[in-house]
Amino acid sequence: MSSSNKKPTYVTQPFLPPLDEFIPYLEQIWEEKWLTNQGKFHQEFENALKDYLGVKYISLFCNGTLALITALHALGIKGEVITTPFSFVATTHSLWWNNIKPVFTDIDPVTYNLDPSKIEAAVTPATTAIMPVHVYGNPCDVEAIKEIADRKGLKVIYDACHAFGVRLNGESVLNFGDLSVLSFHATKVFNTFEGGAIVCHDESMKKKIDLLKNFGFTDETTVIDTGINAKMNEFQSALGLLQLKYTDKAISIRKKITEYYRQRLRSIKGIETNKDLPGVIHNYAYFTIRINNDFPFTRNEVYEKLKEKSIFTRRYFYPLISRFPVYRDLDSALPGKLPVSEQISEEILCLPIFPDLTKDKIDKIIEFFNSR
Ligand SMILES: *Cc1c(COP(=O)(O)O)cnc(C)c1O
Repeated sequence: MSSSNKKPTYVTQPFLPPLDEFIPYLEQIWEEKWLTNQGKFHQEFENALKDYLGVKYISLFCNGTLALITALHALGIKGEVITTPFSFVATTHSLWWNNIKPVFTDIDPVTYNLDPSKIEAAVTPATTAIMPVHVYGNPCDVEAIKEIADRKGLKVIYDACHAFGVRLNGESVLNFGDLSVLSFHATKVFNTFEGGAIVCHDESMKKKIDLLKNFGFTDETTVIDTGINAKMNEFQSALGLLQLKYTDKAISIRKKITEYYRQRLRSIKGIETNKDLPGVIHNYAYFTIRINNDFPFTRNEVYEKLKEKSIFTRRYFYPLISRFPVYRDLDSALPGKLPVSEQISEEILCLPIFPDLTKDKIDKIIEFFNSR
C-alpha cells in the first residue's frame, strides 16, 4: 500500500486554484495597500459573482453566519420564525442573535427541506418570517412557500449556504424569497477561505445591506443603523475571483464522482443514494446516502467502521439543531414533534466528495459497502 493510501480521507477537502495564479493578486494588494472596505477586488468579485450566479444584486460578507444575522436585521424580523431543525446550527443561531424565537417544523422525506404543509400549521400571530434551508443544495418547494408567505404576510429568508450555483427550471434558486444567504466557507462547494453573501432583488435593499455590514455608516460622519462589521476583505475577494474560473470544472468533477458512487452503490440492500431532482441543476456539494434496517450495520456503526479505515464521513445533520441544549426545551423541539427529521437524522451519512478525491479512495469506500 502506498503511503498516500494511508492518508486520512475527509468528507471534503477545500478546492484551491494553483498558487502561482494567486500570487499576482497578492502583489497588487501589497502594491495598493488597500486590504478591505470595498476595495478593487471586492467590487470586481461582486460583479463577477452576480453574473456567474444569475442574480440582480449581491452583497459580499466575511462569512455566512454574519450574512444570515444581517439579513434578518435588514428585514427587521422579530417575534417567531419558522425554520428547519435539519441544518447546520448557524441557521438557528442567526435567529437567536436577533432575539427571534425559532419554531421548528418537520421536513419532507425526499428533499429533506421544510414541508410546506407543516409550515402553514405552525403560523401564529407572532410569526413574521420563514427561514428555510436548501439542504445539500436541494431546492425547497419555493412556490408553495411563496404562496403561504404571501397569504400570511410573512418574509422569506433562504439559508442558501449549500445552494451555490443551483438552478431550478432554468433560474437561479437564489432569486426566490426576500433574501438568500450564501456561505463560501472552506468546506463549501465554492470557497473564499471563509466568506458569504446576501442576494437581494432591489437596489435600496442592496444599499441597506451594504451599510449594515459596515457599522451602519452612509458616509464618513453619518451612522443611520446599528450595523456590524461583516465585510469581505481583499484577500477573500481576490481568491473568489480566481476560484470562479475553476468552479464549473470543479462541479463537473463532483457530478462525475456522484454518478460513479450512485452506479456502484445502486444494488446494495439497505443503502439508498441521493438522486437528482426534476428540473434542477445541482452543484453536487454533498453525496448523501441513507442506511436503513436492511443493511447489516446501523448508520453510526458504518460511520465508526469507516473511521477505523481513516475515512471520515459526516453525519450531517445529526444531532438535529432542535436536540442541542440551547434549543431542546422549545415547544417545537420536544421529542416526537419532528418525526421525519428525527428518522433522516439517524439514517443519513455524507460520503467524501471533492474535486481531488481519487478513484482509488472512492473504490475503497465502495468496497466497504460491497463486502458486507
Ligand atoms: C456553512 C453553513 C452556514 C454558516 O456559514 P459560515 O460561512 O460557515 O458562517 C450556515 N448555514 C448552513 C446551512 C451552512 O451549511
